[in-house]
Amino acid sequence: MNLKKQKNHKRRFYIMRNEKTIKESLFGKTEKIKATGNHIPDKNLLRQPSFEREDSVIYVFCVGCGTLGEVNAISAEKLSNRATDTDAPSVSPDSFEGKYFESGACENCDSEEQYIILKDID
Ligand SMILES: [Zn+2]
Repeated sequence: MNLKKQKNHKRRFYIMRNEKTIKESLFGKTEKIKATGNHIPDKNLLRQPSFEREDSVIYVFCVGCGTLGEVNAISAEKLSNRATDTDAPSVSPDSFEGKYFESGACENCDSEEQYIILKDID
């Protein structure tokens, strides 16, 4: 194996580990609250964010249980790469303005709707 191939191998492993970390944080395996589904976010809060953490850039709303989470720019970029409805491979923090992530499940609930979408706040 030449050096270039070794490098690619390491890179691939890194990506896979990241995917696993993201999946576990979003859809943790432990039994949590019962997901009833069809929750709707408070659009007024989404429009005027009051993030708990200084580095948060966007909300993540779980339709499964109604949990509203927030993520920083690094996590948001990872989520946008996982999002099923966007063809933009990478998104800058500026482009999160007026948007939020909708997820079918989260670490707090037992929903099996494992999807994530970057949505406009209408
Ligand atoms: Zn949830």
